[in-house]
Amino acid sequence: MKMQKISVLLPNPFGICTYFAEENLMPGRFVQVPFGRTHILGVVWDTPIDESFPDNKIKPIDKMIDDFQLSKENRSFIDWVASYTLSPPGLVLKMALTGAEFDKKSRQPLSFLPPIPGHAEVSFSSSQQKAVDDLTRQVKQNTFSVTLLDGVTGSGKTEVYFEAIAEAIRQGRQALILLPEITLTTAWLKRFEKRFGVQPACWHSGLTPKTRRDTWQAVANGSAQVVVGARSALFLPFQKLGLIVVDEEHDSSYKQEDGVLYQARDMAVVRARLGSFSVILASATPSLETYCNVKSGRYQRLVLPERFQDAVLPEMTLVDMRSKEAKEKGFLSIALKSAIAETLQVHQQVLLFLNRRGYAPMRLCRACGEKLVCPHCSVFLTEHHHPAAMVCHQCGYTRSIPTKCPACGEEGTLISCGPGVERIAEEVAEVFPLARTAVITSDTVSNASAFDALCGQLASGEVDILIGTQMLAKGHNFPNLTLVGIVDADFGLSGGDLRASERTFQLLQQVSGRAGRSVHKGRAFIQTYSPQNLVIQALLKGDRDVFMETEIQARQLLGMPPFGRLAAIIISAGNEQLCQRAAKALISKAPFLNGVEFLGPVQAPIYQLRGKYRWRILVKSEKTIRLQTILTTWLAQLKLPSSVTIRIDIDPYSFF
Ligand code: ADP
Ligand code: ZN
Repeated sequence: MKMQKISVLLPNPFGICTYFAEENLMPGRFVQVPFGRTHILGVVWDTPIDESFPDNKIKPIDKMIDDFQLSKENRSFIDWVASYTLSPPGLVLKMALTGAEFDKKSRQPLSFLPPIPGHAEVSFSSSQQKAVDDLTRQVKQNTFSVTLLDGVTGSGKTEVYFEAIAEAIRQGRQALILLPEITLTTAWLKRFEKRFGVQPACWHSGLTPKTRRDTWQAVANGSAQVVVGARSALFLPFQKLGLIVVDEEHDSSYKQEDGVLYQARDMAVVRARLGSFSVILASATPSLETYCNVKSGRYQRLVLPERFQDAVLPEMTLVDMRSKEAKEKGFLSIALKSAIAETLQVHQQVLLFLNRRGYAPMRLCRACGEKLVCPHCSVFLTEHHHPAAMVCHQCGYTRSIPTKCPACGEEGTLISCGPGVERIAEEVAEVFPLARTAVITSDTVSNASAFDALCGQLASGEVDILIGTQMLAKGHNFPNLTLVGIVDADFGLSGGDLRASERTFQLLQQVSGRAGRSVHKGRAFIQTYSPQNLVIQALLKGDRDVFMETEIQARQLLGMPPFGRLAAIIISAGNEQLCQRAAKALISKAPFLNGVEFLGPVQAPIYQLRGKYRWRILVKSEKTIRLQTILTTWLAQLKLPSSVTIRIDIDPYSFF
């Protein structure tokens, strides 16, 4: 029998390889093939056969795997993501095959009971009902559409998108809900169960290998109808996907920062376009990109204007920390402290927000000015007291807290600079010794179930004052929480990050929205040293549109996304000279093109990271230009030593 040549995509950087098969296998078939000295899983791909490859080097496949196929839609998606992010297609396939193991079959595979679309009856307010009607109509139509579901926290967005999911199930299609990993809590799952009678399939980093395998297979054979997961769930091999919901669409955790650098919210939209179905983007504080897409008419928008029932937005007070009257000692103002006292008096709860982990962001020698820095990264070590250590927040390097200055040798001259949450907790314990407090940061709460437990404690009234970082923005209903104090509203306002103000605005708005999500009226106190700042002023007035419009003007003026295209190139190497030479060599080959700018190279803001030196080049172009083509041609001109790493980040979210 004549052997046929087939193209197989392998889940590794090599990507497409040619093999012999006994029959002409159609693209999408899974095969096991020899690769080097091992045998791996691959997928027959649509790529034309590489006829230049000598026949005597082509090996036959080991076997076909009949259980599943990767649909055309899934294959196109993988190709699309690879070419957009300039990643090897094999590495994108690898994400899609996480959990795919065919030789290991579970003896008792997990079964996913079908969600029941009509399990619970919900009665909606009129604006909610309008949103429900619009969204279910779109799901029925089976055409590509993107809708922003825009409503303050507590307005019923989850309740409303559940109806769109119900419709997808009725249509016999699968639905995917993407959530930031930390919000995928049992509380969320219980709500789902209350509405649909069963739990959905979950996909996140904490799954056991068996659950991962069972879930992968259930998604591939269509028996898992609804999947809720973190961004990587987007690459599961859905058979008949009919709806994606991206909840908290503005959340920056949708950007994957290692391996394939993709933005899951943007790729969800691509996935929906390829599969001709609807996407719902839900947020109380939409991203500027989405806001602009609504303005230009590309996305639709449904607004849920008021909170469900009587809950009202908090009353905002700005505390100008520059004035002498504002504070005595410590980091909490007099105004905030008396509001805390009043709140505790009536047995309600307080939340204090500061986006800094640990005790103090820096330790400084009073005698010689020495600051403690990480030996592997150019950042200050953060002082932590629980447990006591100096920690690098970039690489995790840890050392004991020194009592002697390492530079001048003086004893007892090192002082803690600025507050972290632990230091605020210390101050709270001094001023309110009887209050029961809890600190919530990624140090104290490392996963969704720990987060859950803490939310439970708060809900049952075991905690009076909760002190925490941005994790706090995510919790759900705490009806008895009526006071929010933002300890330092200025933390994110400076720095070279394109989205710094946007992120600060979103975060502060979400945190202050935690107060009074019930019948009690809430209050929010915002401590700032720059009360005139645009972000702070917009926040005070609760005026998102004013903030957005000003931010849009600024980005438009600079031609920054979403009005232009941006890519960040990071050149890194262990050898400082080598790294610099590579960066200079690269820029010397940069083409001169209309509408394209190469900025740099400059030393990256964190010049040393995990022992590697880093240089940056930013490439900016007009929107009509396909930046990827330019980058590929440019970078292909130069052969760099293998000890130099080039990282290409399209639409970068991190700027360090
Ligand atoms: P969001 O997702 O906008 O934060 P949720 O959907 O979580 O809002 O709604 C907030 C709270 O109000 C939840 O406890 C939810 O169950 C309740 N809720 C919202 N709309 C309704 C409704 N129509 N009927 C009953 N409860 C509702
Ligand atoms: Zn470090």
